[in-house]
Amino acid sequence: MTPHVVPDPQAGAAVKAADRAHVFHSWSAQGLIDPLAVAGAEGSYFWDYDGNRYLDFTSGLVYTNIGYQHPKVVAAIQEQAAKLTTFAPAFAVDVRSEAARLIAERTPGDLNKIFFTNGGAEAVENAVRMARLHTGRHKVLSAFRSYHGATSTAINLTGDPRRWASDTGSAGVVRFWAPFLYRSAFYAETEQQECERALAHLEDTIAFEGPGTVAAIILETVPGTAGIMTPPPGYLTGVREICDKYGIVFVLDEVMAGFGRTGAWFAAEHFDVVPDLMTFAKGVNSGYVPLGGVAISEEIAATFETRPYPGGLTYSGHPLACAAAVATIRVMEDEQVVQHAARIGETVLGPGLRELAERHPSVGEVRGMGVFWALDLVKNKETREPLVPYNAAGEANAPMAAFGAAAKKNGLWPFVNMNRTHAVPACNVSEDEVKEGLAALDAALTVADEHT
Ligand code: PMP
Repeated sequence: MTPHVVPDPQAGAAVKAADRAHVFHSWSAQGLIDPLAVAGAEGSYFWDYDGNRYLDFTSGLVYTNIGYQHPKVVAAIQEQAAKLTTFAPAFAVDVRSEAARLIAERTPGDLNKIFFTNGGAEAVENAVRMARLHTGRHKVLSAFRSYHGATSTAINLTGDPRRWASDTGSAGVVRFWAPFLYRSAFYAETEQQECERALAHLEDTIAFEGPGTVAAIILETVPGTAGIMTPPPGYLTGVREICDKYGIVFVLDEVMAGFGRTGAWFAAEHFDVVPDLMTFAKGVNSGYVPLGGVAISEEIAATFETRPYPGGLTYSGHPLACAAAVATIRVMEDEQVVQHAARIGETVLGPGLRELAERHPSVGEVRGMGVFWALDLVKNKETREPLVPYNAAGEANAPMAAFGAAAKKNGLWPFVNMNRTHAVPACNVSEDEVKEGLAALDAALTVADEHT
């Protein structure tokens, strides 16, 4: 596929100049960044004004699960705009009801009611509020290695160092270690040890905090931003049991892992676990229009049957976003996108990444499933010393910057975070595109190898 626009560097320069003058960017020192001016995107690719085309191995921020500009979803948004662009959340609107029905039919267990938000952080905020009101308790336990969003409570719950600057520490948040065998907090040597020790540690944490004070435990089913760390077998069902024992609400955050990313509609399916509340966003409509939400169990929904739920958002369940969700879910069904993500992970992407790990001294571990993979880059495979320090968020990070630049030079747009690169293409990425991405990663890892 070639770019649909004739290169126009002058137009690109104008976009960049206006951006520099007036756009205040997320997570950045404004004067130290140089954002690429994007001229267009389609499927798994985007291109700039200079005629460079990139294979997007980031899916935006891990959300364009059906790629860019899927014609059926674009058409659905256009049709909805012509029919009824917006309507306030207190009304029943056909496309909102339909989106909720389609989502509820795909969520596990009895998560049958959907509270709509505009994104992931708002979903987390509301899940926590529901859990607190349902239990009458205030504390929430979250994992050190986690990301739950950048709003007040969501950033407090987050473990990622990006929270350090804005964490008020005042929201009743208690952090614990979730399992991660490669860098075990429990000195474990097997998956089973890691699982048992992580569960014992969680139960100890609850005992010392006071079980009667803990409203919720929140976990990403497969933690994403912090490193795509698939939990060991038995861990999530173990957490479910602990929650049941102490009357704690179990919240699974599927904002990143949901809607096909792991090769299942929701990652919870892989682990046979049903939470009480499940947050989602991103892939629900491939991010074409902002949308997120909380899927709510019958029991928690019943709490608010006669008692009002004190929370809401002006644009909750926006018709354009819901139309995009309905169309996205239909596309995913019609084109078997979830099954495709599972298959391509098992047969092409996973084996390809493992083969790279064998040849490159900088790759310490490969982990993931579906189209949700991380390469943990190290200075030394034996000691597992990370290629850059863990707390390097926002600081100069030469080896990873060199890796990223090499990937881009080879036509691949990579996800780079601390000492990791994530291979997270669209769920409908083709086999040829994956092979093209693997070849570019191969070249970029050769640059990372120089730092081992
Ligand atoms: N939870 C998880 C697991 C996420 O990955 C993210 C975003 N990366 C969020 C919550 C926050 O979502 P948003 O940026 O849409 O607020």
